[in-house]
Amino acid sequence: MSIVVEDLSKRFSGFAALNGVSLEARPKEFLALLGPSGSGKTTLLRMIAGLDFPDSGRVLFDGADMTDTPAAERRIGFVFQNYALFRHMTVADNIAFGLTVRKRRERPAKADIVRRVVELLDLIQLPDIGGRFPAQLSGGQRQRVALARALAVEPQLLLLDEPFGALDAQVRKDLRRWLRHLHEKMGLTSVFVTHDQEEALELADRVVVMSQGKIEQVGTPAEVYDSPATAFVSQFVGETNRLPVTVSGGRVSYAGKPLSADAGGIEGVGDLHFRPHQAEIVNGGDGTLAIRIDVVRPRGGGWRVEGTTLDDPRAVEIDLGAGRQVPRAGDDVALRITASRVYPAA
Ligand code: ATP
Repeated sequence: MSIVVEDLSKRFSGFAALNGVSLEARPKEFLALLGPSGSGKTTLLRMIAGLDFPDSGRVLFDGADMTDTPAAERRIGFVFQNYALFRHMTVADNIAFGLTVRKRRERPAKADIVRRVVELLDLIQLPDIGGRFPAQLSGGQRQRVALARALAVEPQLLLLDEPFGALDAQVRKDLRRWLRHLHEKMGLTSVFVTHDQEEALELADRVVVMSQGKIEQVGTPAEVYDSPATAFVSQFVGETNRLPVTVSGGRVSYAGKPLSADAGGIEGVGDLHFRPHQAEIVNGGDGTLAIRIDVVRPRGGGWRVEGTTLDDPRAVEIDLGAGRQVPRAGDDVALRITASRVYPAA
């Protein structure tokens, strides 16, 4: 199923939570809505779900206008933080819930519901817990049951709001893989909300980066990481070093000294961004950046070096591969920036 969101806006007591958002999820796509707290991710997801309605704009499923259709009639599965499992019901009853509350003529026979619950318990790889209550499960098991409950109604569209929010790192990682697999196996179109960029980059086919009720960029994980469209995306997705620079006639300078970097069409003052892996230590030379090393720590088989620029002191962090000569805290070294981009000054 495809989802199209057209120019969606929503205000809450005068505050623009969503401001003209347009977006498409292609059939079978796994889309992440990524942004800081308050950027409008949940508001957008709730409107796709039919749990809330926009002031203007449209939501289309496979071309059909669903803007005013309530959630119950959209046949979607959702896992929202505040729709926790029902504590007084067994796991099996929780999973069956969406089917048992259907109108009589649409409700499957009791035996079919039981069969469906057994299938779903197998699918979430917890075949023996149907008789337990939510309090008798771990956090990760509870999330899997919440997913089974969402999938019971055989949705084509799965919406998830911070599905792994409260879980510890290893469980999160395992569940991510599992969810990705499930999404593919069931041929779902899925949209999930996260403020965790690693989660978005690892799980999604495309990432929608949001800020202040607007979309900053939509792209594959590689596109948003390697070619951020705005300074906001560059900072929010992945780590970035920032230096205030001046560009004159295409030449970049920092603290009054020339710096070898691509000006990217900017003139005047700007912010130079480069990632920790986009710099190397060299033996001085024109256009390099002088820094003093503050800390060197092992990282991912190589080294993370934290330093401070000698002119107009700013913190910078760079990654060095293994096998290189490692600088020591207190050393002064020269950095050559290997890739960078200048954004207009904020
Ligand atoms: P988080 O990651 O913290 O959940 P979010 O990106 O999902 O953030 P939203 O929950 O969509 O952000 O909220 C966007 C903005 O709209 C916030 O400033 C929030 O305070 C406001 N907002 C959301 N729902 C309501 C509401 N029902 N009434 C008033 N303001 C609201």
